[in-house]
Amino acid sequence: MTALSLRNVNKSFGEVHVLKDINLDVEDGEFVVFVGPSGCGKSTLLRVIAGLEDATSGEVRIGGDVVNLTPPSKRGIAMVFQSYALYPHLSVRGNMTLALKQEGQSKPVIEERVQKASKMLDLDPYLDRFPSELSGGQRQRVAIGRAIVREPKLFLFDEPLSNLDAALRMNTRIEIANLHRQLGASMVYVTHDQTEAMTLADKIVVLREGRVEQIGSPMDLYNDPANQFVAGFLGSPS
Ligand code: ADP
Ligand code: MG
Repeated sequence: MTALSLRNVNKSFGEVHVLKDINLDVEDGEFVVFVGPSGCGKSTLLRVIAGLEDATSGEVRIGGDVVNLTPPSKRGIAMVFQSYALYPHLSVRGNMTLALKQEGQSKPVIEERVQKASKMLDLDPYLDRFPSELSGGQRQRVAIGRAIVREPKLFLFDEPLSNLDAALRMNTRIEIANLHRQLGASMVYVTHDQTEAMTLADKIVVLREGRVEQIGSPMDLYNDPANQFVAGFLGSPS
């Protein structure tokens, strides 16, 4: 099954043409990384996939359903932002349960999912704390936990590690790889960091100025970059 498909997706803001004819399939369980320099359209692409922005033309389907014809709670996606985007007035537990309460999930289901996610992410000791009482790394784990409890088929990550220091970035990267293995969900992960792309991805999508330059496995792109730009970003130095 195809978890996500994009067909000729374009997005303009007024005169500014940000996404140009994007075509892409993400298969069930696949880990796909979008990589490219700052300003190339990565966040916009993720927002269009999530249905937070409508494409100007073209089509986005998640699990076969056209995203902007599907109510948000039925899209089967959860997004993790660079800025964590936690609710400051809610505890860790409150942040993790809010969407589930809004979906009308029962108390036992909510409790079971919170227990499971907080165990996976070592968040048990922090469930009653508020975001202001947590470190950056802990906040990002809460943001990831908040996505996990929704049991999405497709996770969307927008540079989730870029506000963390180097050591924490590596730990959290490994944690995300482990989660992918445990959960078996599809993941679309945006970064401008080539190490993250090379180590996490089944498939890398290289973006430049709103266009797909190349799609391939990390080894494909490393060994056989389509052009100088891809080589400069990910390829071997030769
Ligand atoms: P990236 O995430 O790769 O750094 P973005 O998707 O944030 O890139 O931005 C791509 C381009 O789209 C930038 O030139 C940015 O200024 C423009 N852009 C993004 N969102 C908007 C918006 N809401 N209105 C106008 N321009 C936007
Ligand atoms: Mg961005």
